[in-house]
Parts: sequence; C-alpha cells; structure tokens
Amino acid sequence: MESRLLDILVCPLCKGRLEFARTQQELICQADRLAFPVRDGVPVMLENEARPLDPAA
Ligand SMILES: [Zn+2]
Repeated sequence: MESRLLDILVCPLCKGRLEFARTQQELICQADRLAFPVRDGVPVMLENEARPLDPAA
C-alpha cells in the first residue's frame, strides 16, 4: 500500500489518523482500539470488518 494513502485515510469512527501495521496488513486506530484490514492493497474502512485490538497491548 502506498504511504501517501495513509495521509488521506482516517478512522471512520473518530476521524483520527491511522497507523499502518505492515506485517499484519492492517490499519490501526489507537483511539478506538480497532484494526481495519487491508485486502489486496485496498483498505476496508468498515466498522463491522474491523478487528478489536487487545486492550492490554
Ligand atoms: Zn478511531
């Protein structure tokens, strides 16, 4: 995924910045503790597709 895409992508819930976790191919919102999947290079910015992060992590 191109890094400049990160500059325009925001969390659909809080509109905050996302972190790209390259190894997992996920976009992380630290505020909501959610990880949005990136499938075939396409970010899936849907709350019901997001994975909850471990609260202890
Ligand atoms: Zn968020």
